[in-house]
Amino acid sequence: MTLLVEEERNASLFSWYRAEQRSFPWRGETDPYRILVSEAMLQQTQASRVIPFYNRFVTRFPTVESLAAAALQDVLALWAGLGYNSRGLRLREAARMIAADGWPTTPATLVDLPGVGPYTASALASFAFGARVPAVDTNLRRVLSRWHGEPLNGASLQAAAATALGDPASDWNQAMMDLGATTCVSKVPLCGACPVRDWCSGPAGHTPPRTQGRFEGSARQLRGAIVRSLVRRDATFRDVVQQTGFPTTQVEMALADLMSEQLVNRDETGVYRIAE
Ligand code: SF4
Repeated sequence: MTLLVEEERNASLFSWYRAEQRSFPWRGETDPYRILVSEAMLQQTQASRVIPFYNRFVTRFPTVESLAAAALQDVLALWAGLGYNSRGLRLREAARMIAADGWPTTPATLVDLPGVGPYTASALASFAFGARVPAVDTNLRRVLSRWHGEPLNGASLQAAAATALGDPASDWNQAMMDLGATTCVSKVPLCGACPVRDWCSGPAGHTPPRTQGRFEGSARQLRGAIVRSLVRRDATFRDVVQQTGFPTTQVEMALADLMSEQLVNRDETGVYRIAE
């Protein structure tokens, strides 16, 4: 009997994945809480950078209940340095919802948790609850676009992912993540070493995005520096300017952003502190 293209391609993909898969503390994890922590940290941060933060975090907050009961100051003390601190706030809010109401288990209900978008909801449903769904992120989009020879978006991307999905879905999602991270990389994919090159249209289906702006001197760097400072001690506006070394107008804007994100409060005496 002739195998379908998808079956042949997935057989080669799985065989490569069994031999080459990357090792992470959250790999193979089935505890939804630990998967949620890892996925929150992996949003916008490279996996190798996440490892020590993840290990410290799940040691200090080993259960969803322990995180739900935590002060934001303690959460951000472990998050600071990873960047995008609002992820830490949203993760604690998600833990509070789960501690109160139990775990949602489908992509359609997981997406209601704070900080959980369609990708994270599908990844959680697949890794923790055995759902047969593809977890569509930028890596998967890039690889599928190259297989198809054209940029895929929206409904065409979802349809391509559903057709390509292998069994078990959790392994397929992890294999595709590893393929995208190590071989089918954005700028110069390693097609000669690729396990699925026989079923691919080649690199032209994906256009590499423009690189992110400079971090040094950016508003993002300043917001991170302010959170790191306030995790250690409360501070006046003057203290914040002195500790960060940024111009006052930029510090003003960054503090306003952090307050609107509900990460930082200012009391009536003008002292800034991490929110409750
Ligand atoms: S053959 Fe090249 S472009 Fe196609 S999936 Fe493999 S690495 Fe990506």
